Amino acid sequence: MTSIVIAGAGYGGVMAGRKFEKAMQPFTLINKHSYHQFITWLHEAAGGRHRIDDYKVELSEVFRQSIVTQIKDEVTFIDRQQRKVIGKKGEYPYDYAMIALGSAPEFFGIKGLAEYSLQLRSIETARQIRTHIEQQFTAYREDQDETHLRIVVGGAGLTGIEFVGELMDWLPDLCDRLGIPNNRFEVQNIEAAPAILPALSENLQTKAKKILEEKGVRIRTNTKITKVEADAVYLESGEVVHAKTIVWTGGVRANPVLKNSGFTCDGRGRAKVNAYLQSIDDERVFVIGDCASFESAGRPLPPTAQLATQMGDVAATNLLALSKGEQMVHFQPKILGTLASLGRDVGVGFIAGMQTSGTPAGIAKELSKVKYLWQLGGLRMVTRNRRSLVREY
Ligand code: NAD
Repeated sequence: MTSIVIAGAGYGGVMAGRKFEKAMQPFTLINKHSYHQFITWLHEAAGGRHRIDDYKVELSEVFRQSIVTQIKDEVTFIDRQQRKVIGKKGEYPYDYAMIALGSAPEFFGIKGLAEYSLQLRSIETARQIRTHIEQQFTAYREDQDETHLRIVVGGAGLTGIEFVGELMDWLPDLCDRLGIPNNRFEVQNIEAAPAILPALSENLQTKAKKILEEKGVRIRTNTKITKVEADAVYLESGEVVHAKTIVWTGGVRANPVLKNSGFTCDGRGRAKVNAYLQSIDDERVFVIGDCASFESAGRPLPPTAQLATQMGDVAATNLLALSKGEQMVHFQPKILGTLASLGRDVGVGFIAGMQTSGTPAGIAKELSKVKYLWQLGGLRMVTRNRRSLVREY
């Protein structure tokens, strides 16, 4: 029996697993947690929309136990000579491996950033951010120190923008609950580039900025963060912003396991893959999602959930083909759209080449969640497990 190990149960890993399950191909799935997290919706969790535990699903609910051997362990190394995935608790031999270990924050060597900022990376960090903000707002009632009510979000990519949008819907409710006047809190989104949302067109960038500014966000483009201390953000201009909540959403790099395991990587630590999504260093190792550097039109694809799920599906098909000596297929990425929520009801983005903004974009974003849940587990996943995540219209 061919031994297949999937390392990581993020978007790519679970889609690969679903493919193996449909093919009745047993596999081992190694993941740090017993659950799959909805990472792309974590801004909602951190921003108070639903219960934090609604943003995960147990892997035992996703896969039939007769097909998957589920192991809770943290992968630390891929030993290609011995054909073993190495974890903190054990070693897992493979004939073929699928590496889907996701990404880690990119700090660009900015002093103090890793130590003093919060990052929106997981269920636990979302919980940490939400609790931290609640504690700071509560502390304001004791000493009236305004820095408790100032939140700095560094980076205006999709993660930062979706998070500040969510905050602007949640913080007025939090203030009401705590008896703090609604006009006291301040959210600054600080961005080094001249514009927000680099993944979208200029027109949509302008619309998103307008919507967020109307909600009260202070968006500061052309403003680079150069140093962070406890409660202080230093800007290139020399200005210091004093804030008790600092959240870093300034970019990601691949999980360091790839580089540490000797894979040929790009500048963001992603392992270079061929047209079949195999590592260029080893045909028995497929690398997908945020871990993979796949060139399209001369540039590596961006690390998105949409592409990770597509890669998981194709890489699993190819792995099965390779193991049977059959022809593999080229991975052909399809960017079907990109949507950014700007709070609970509105958004911006494009779908199938068409631009959308405001409420239609907000609805499209909600529908994209239903689509993902359907891919993950059909009607059962949409209705039973995730009902509270999707707004009813
Ligand atoms: P990003 O790299 O897209 O954006 C980070 C932003 O931080 C950039 O605009 C950059 O200029 C800015 N920045 C970097 N250093 C800075 C500094 N020193 N001072 C101020 N600003 C600085 O990162 P992200 O938003 O975390 O997204 C990562 C990936 O995940 C992207 O590919 C993105 O498309 C994807 N993503 C997609 C969705 C979605 O589809 N809805 C949601 C979240 C993330």
